[in-house]
Amino acid sequence: MEEDFSKYIDKPIFRTVSEVCNENGLSAFVIGGYVRDLILKRPSKDIDIVVLGSGLDLAEKVAKRLDIDKVQYFKNFGTAMFVHEGDDIEFVGARKESYSRDTRKPIVENGSLEDDQNRRDFTINALALSLNKSSFGYLVDPFDGLEDMENKIIRTPLEPDKTYSDDPLRMLRAIRFSSQLGFRIEAESLAAIERNADRLEIISAERIIDEVNKIVLSPKPSVGFKKLYDTKLLHQFFPEMVALQGIETKNGKSHKDNFYHTLEVLDNISKETDDLWLRWAAIMHDIAKPRTKRFHDKQGWTFHGHEDLGAKMIPKIFKKLKLPLDAKMKYVQKLVRLHLRPISLVKGNVTDSAIRRLLFEAGEDLEDLMTLCNADITSKNEYKVEKYKRNFKLVEKKLKQIEEKDRVRNFQPPISGELIMSTFNMGPCYEVGVIKTAIKDAILDGHIENDYDQAYQFMLEKAKEIGVSKK
Ligand code: ATP
Ligand code: MG
Repeated sequence: MEEDFSKYIDKPIFRTVSEVCNENGLSAFVIGGYVRDLILKRPSKDIDIVVLGSGLDLAEKVAKRLDIDKVQYFKNFGTAMFVHEGDDIEFVGARKESYSRDTRKPIVENGSLEDDQNRRDFTINALALSLNKSSFGYLVDPFDGLEDMENKIIRTPLEPDKTYSDDPLRMLRAIRFSSQLGFRIEAESLAAIERNADRLEIISAERIIDEVNKIVLSPKPSVGFKKLYDTKLLHQFFPEMVALQGIETKNGKSHKDNFYHTLEVLDNISKETDDLWLRWAAIMHDIAKPRTKRFHDKQGWTFHGHEDLGAKMIPKIFKKLKLPLDAKMKYVQKLVRLHLRPISLVKGNVTDSAIRRLLFEAGEDLEDLMTLCNADITSKNEYKVEKYKRNFKLVEKKLKQIEEKDRVRNFQPPISGELIMSTFNMGPCYEVGVIKTAIKDAILDGHIENDYDQAYQFMLEKAKEIGVSKK
């Protein structure tokens, strides 16, 4: 027993658990992530309570005292949980774990508090605060987790090779915490991760992506991704991103390292948004560069079509990574497909028509696309970046002006397919599509205004031109 933290654990639930334990001769502790976050002053709603005895029994007794009738019991795991004042309270009996080589599921036996702390992944995650009456709020910290927290270090309580080999998910957790909290992974631990990287194969894609998404959402995600790359964990589950790494030089011409460029874009965008999918769009924006890379004597390196191929690669990558294959994926695809468009408007004379087309295609995702493009402006040359950003602001202004004038962003052509069909008394056919597209193009190109009468007139002319007549 070391330091008095009783003033930190001031929620009523802790007093209630303490009273119930005292009346029943039980001993309980609040443990793990909640204690870590309490000390780091990070908000947390998951409270884990470990008891020397049955977690199910203690949960039942505490719930009864608090008049809570919705308690979930997971008998197979020996855990029980309920919600109290917005917090998820989970009860579990202290346990001892031992592992076999081909699964991360341990053999579990009842154990002491010490056993339970030994099975935790990191010293900062092994802290326990006593809820017992005589020692309420005292910290049980057998591995100097508090000191590691002060020194911002991720360290395993026991031998790192064994810790990571027993449950390889911990390697990803180490890197996730270092990215989330800005902590350093202790050298021994980092070396052990490198040695055990290929053990990740026994971890399911769902668990991997949970941790990766936490890295993506961390304040500076490059911290995590660089470590994933350096330890070769990234190679195990996301080889397409690894392929971005490297610089090739031919005839004295080099291209940039697209892996580090991608990370710069990801860090840039993370200063602007906490949206997971916009951050994923940054990760994916150049994903097809390795596959589209060509060298030309005059131009040097090109990556023609990487935006389209990148968009095409996304469903397969999302599927493999167990990311959702729904509207989120479509959104990422769209941003990847369009990511060069705003910047291409910076160069040369921009026509209103090009601006209208971008507004139309980006629709409600225009702001996000602009955020991505802005983040994509990276160069070692500050002057170049400044100049680009200035020109980019002009494009933004122009987009606003045209949108205010023409309202094409959420534009629905004023003539529907149904109207075309009824006017010419025909069913759905190729010609209907031709006329519809021609009307849309005429509006976007500024030949006619976004207006019913003009579009109707245009429809009649177009129909005549392609030999469709009113019957
Ligand atoms: P977060 O809630 O931010 O994801 P956490 O550390 O609280 O992080 P949880 O999954 O809530 O993670 O786990 C709670 C506690 O259980 C951890 O703090 C740690 O003590 C322990 N724990 C979780 N996963 C593992 C693991 N794979 N190996 C060892 N201990 C673990
Ligand atoms: Mg937690």
